[in-house]
This record gives sequence, structure tokens and C-alpha cells, in this order.
Amino acid sequence: MNFLVIDHVSHIYFTRQSAVTALENISFTIEEGEFVSFLGPSGCGKTTLLSIIAALIKPTEGTVLLEGNKIDSMNPSVGYMLQQDYLFPWKTIKENIFLGLKILGIDTSEAKQKALHLLADIGLKGIEKHYPHQLSGGMRQRAALVRTLATNPKILLLDEPFSALDYQTKLKLEELVWKTLKEYKKTALLVTHDIEEAIAMSDRIFLLSARPGKLTQTFNVPQELRSLSPFAARQHPAFSELFQFIWKELDQLETNK
Ligand code: ADP
Ligand code: MG
Repeated sequence: MNFLVIDHVSHIYFTRQSAVTALENISFTIEEGEFVSFLGPSGCGKTTLLSIIAALIKPTEGTVLLEGNKIDSMNPSVGYMLQQDYLFPWKTIKENIFLGLKILGIDTSEAKQKALHLLADIGLKGIEKHYPHQLSGGMRQRAALVRTLATNPKILLLDEPFSALDYQTKLKLEELVWKTLKEYKKTALLVTHDIEEAIAMSDRIFLLSARPGKLTQTFNVPQELRSLSPFAARQHPAFSELFQFIWKELDQLETNK
């Protein structure tokens, strides 16, 4: 069975003055355990697409199915992680990572233990009682990832989660997130404007055209890159070949805007 199905999804934002078509007739299927990325010019509807999958927005047309069922609001199967970490500044890291569990009413001691384990796994042992402002940007994003994973979602939606970080932190975090998601066998959808990041992390890459966002192309990342971790993939000769190719395609989309 298809794991995640996006079927003829279109979205129009209606405001008092105008109607903005953000997405037009998007259809694709994602298998369980796949890591896919979405690349496209800014404003082409990438965040809109993730918000629809997270059921934060109801699409004007089309449907989203997860394991054959329509996704409705507040579905614990879908975890969402954003560019900004949105950790609550007045809560400790521990309280922050338990928050999703609490909201969903599943904050059992077992679930909390698992979350603390994950925090340690991701290299944040010992900061449970710290407040977000005491951590670096990279550490906060890691804590945000733990919070997202704590509720054990089937799918992770990642909206430019590394774009506010410095280059080195970003590379390290790509590696860590990739390894963690593989280990926990999660399906992930990443939105990024960084071609290298998309190639380094994904199995497939979807290219969206400028607004209204339409799927223009899908790239299968070659097996020899997919089997490597992001950092190792960046060193492989096939990496720059694919980069050149996608760069040209994306450049064309930007100039046709
Ligand atoms: P991306 O994430 O690719 O940059 P978005 O999904 O955020 O793009 O936005 C797609 C288009 O929809 C943009 O033109 C944006 O201005 C518009 N848009 C986004 N959110 C709203 C909203 N709440 N109301 C009206 N227009 C919106
Ligand atoms: Mg966006």
C-alpha cells in the first residue's frame, strides 16, 4: 500500500482583496521510510504543502492520505519541525520535550523516559534543566527534533530546519538528523532551498515551479549516494554531477519567474 498519497492538491489563499494560488494540482506518493526533499523558488508554496500535510490548512482541492486514511487535524502521526525552534523560553528543555506528549495526553513515564533517551542519543545529556536561551542554535534545533520525535510520529515534516544555522553546525546537524531518522525508520519530507542539502539527505527530490507551485520534476538520487550519510555523500563524485544538473533546472525556474 502507498504510505503517503498527495492526490491532486491545489491551494488558493483568499484574502479580502485577492486570491493567491499557492499550489496547483500536486500529486505524488511517498513510501514508508523514504526521505524526500522539496526544492523550489521562494514563495512557490513549499510551506503551504507541508501545512496541508500536517492538516494545519485544508486544501482548496484534493486529498492527503496516510496509510489509506485522510489526515485530519492534530494527527499524532505527523510531526512538524520548523526553521525556528519554537521552544517555550519559560520552560526547561525537559518540559519542552514533554510538551507534545502532554498535549496528546500520552505523557506516561515510559514515553518520558524514551524522550530523555532520545535527548541523550542526540548528544544533549545533562541539559534537561536548562532553559532554551542557555543553548546554542544547533542545540535548540536538536531539542526541537527530540520534541518532534517524542510523540513517535510516522512522518516528519521539516521546513528549512537548518537554514538559520552556521554552515558547520548545519553539516553536523544534517548528519545527526539523517542518522536518527534512519535509526528510527522514519519517513521524512524536507523543505529546503539548499540543493546540496537536498542531495546529501534524500532518496528523491521534487522540484516545484515558481508560484503557483506545480511539480515540475522528480530526481531519483543515485543509490551510491543514498547509501552514504550526508557528509560522505558530499565527497562522492556523483554528488557534484547531480548538483550541476539540478542547479541548471532550478536556475531556469527562477529566471522564468
Ligand atoms: P514557500 O514556503 O515556498 O516560500 P509559502 O507556502 O509560504 O511559500 O507561500 C506560497 C504563496 O502563498 C506565497 O506567495 C505567499 O505569499 C502566499 N501565502 C502564504 N501564506 C498566506 C496566507 N496566510 N494568506 C495569503 N497568502 C499567503
Ligand atoms: Mg516556506
